[in-house]
Amino acid sequence: MKQKVEVAIIGAGLAGLACALELQKNKIDFQIFEASDGVGGRVRSDIVDGFILDRGFQLYNPSYTEGQRLLDYQALDLKPFTPGVAIRDGKSLRIVVDPFRSKDFRYRLLKDLPGSIFSQLGLLSYFLKYLITADAQISVSADISAQQSLTKSGIKGSLLEKLFRPFLQGVFLESELNTSRKFLDTVLKTFLRGIPSLPAQGMQQISNQLAAKIPSENISLNTKVLRIEGNKLITPDGEIETKKIVVATDPSTAISWLNLEVKEMHSVSTWYFKADQKVNSIVRSKPLLFVDGKKSGPLTNAVVLTNAAPSYAPTGQVLVAASAISPNEHAELIEVKKHLAVLFGVPTDDWELIKKYEIKEALPAMTPPYSLIDSNQINSDLFVAGDHRATSSIQGALISGTNAATLVKVSLGL
Ligand SMILES: Cc1cc2nc3c(=O)[nH]c(=O)nc-3n(C[C@H](O)[C@H](O)[C@H](O)COP(=O)(O)OP(=O)(O)OC[C@H]3O[C@@H](n4cnc5c(N)ncnc54)[C@H](O)[C@@H]3O)c2cc1C
Repeated sequence: MKQKVEVAIIGAGLAGLACALELQKNKIDFQIFEASDGVGGRVRSDIVDGFILDRGFQLYNPSYTEGQRLLDYQALDLKPFTPGVAIRDGKSLRIVVDPFRSKDFRYRLLKDLPGSIFSQLGLLSYFLKYLITADAQISVSADISAQQSLTKSGIKGSLLEKLFRPFLQGVFLESELNTSRKFLDTVLKTFLRGIPSLPAQGMQQISNQLAAKIPSENISLNTKVLRIEGNKLITPDGEIETKKIVVATDPSTAISWLNLEVKEMHSVSTWYFKADQKVNSIVRSKPLLFVDGKKSGPLTNAVVLTNAAPSYAPTGQVLVAASAISPNEHAELIEVKKHLAVLFGVPTDDWELIKKYEIKEALPAMTPPYSLIDSNQINSDLFVAGDHRATSSIQGALISGTNAATLVKVSLGL
């Protein structure tokens, strides 16, 4: 391991990798120090018995601008979901899709959209407003919570409780919709511009693609930085001297090292099941996210992943992901299976649990008033990158990494 580097990046998550790519573009010497055995941080996947399991159910939205700049979408072979949701509402199933981008089920929209005509008009005006609002306007206008913003526009009653809350709690990983309106509006715009998708070979391909552009000798895996002392990193294998340091760790580590404002972290669990083909009959094998409008069990959402990306399972097999946010992330397997039977309307007794992931620190909270982009510079030699400096998303992590590198470059007088 090198004992002297110009720029040390701590963490090989998406922020650290984006930072490295920007430094590399500017011919600045760098070394990434990563505590774990691989790149990607929160965007990693495992292969278990031929099934691809992302470490927590997640999707990539191709409209992310930093992703468009840094990733090769063709090589990722993105598999889109149906833009919409299937809402379990007691015995009935409401299928609410974007009528302009999905011909499947669109004739059901008028019948299946929950809520009164007034709240539906509120929804229409909310979307029209955000279609014509410039991105820059989203960040400058006053901030309130997502729930306040929706109800203020008339989105309340069953439209809120059966569609918006069940859907958004899976995005924000919190059920009160206390997340900043700015992030809500950013998310809605992102959904209007791109269809959430899965790379055919798993979410980790996103991380791998970025890392593949960096010489492997510039990434030191299994190297945990214990602490920073001035311009030195202290690792179990010795000290590394450096001119500039970019802290691109997980939010909790960065916050404690750099004395930043504390952010609550939202947790989530995902159970992966080997299911049977019966589950596909219900929505004609379309990749739809299922939510429960009646909250009749612990799950936040569930989805047949192989309907979007058959490559996630051995040929002919069916992979289901079921996720639950706090306080249900420790739900018993029996309750989870029972809820899946309600959601999909098929027996699940024979479904086999492949693996469960409990992610305690999945997303940093974005409570109002929230700044969609925070400073990446601590002092002339110390920088910080990560989703907690922008938005809790892949786009947020990537852009904050790029921004940190730009500041490093300026501080080096380049
Ligand atoms: C379950 C789940 C679902 C999600 N769903 C979505 C989604 O659908 N869409 C979306 O856009 N985003 C989603 N996200 C969010 C997105 O994955 C994150 O915002 C993003 O990956 C954060 O990247 P990061 O680089 O900021 O941090 P991290 O990924 O946390 O990377 C930090 C890295 O630093 C390393 N590190 C920490 N401490 C040290 C140390 N002392 N020394 C060396 N290395 C260290 C860690 O090992 C890690 O590799 C989801 C996240 C989770 C967990």
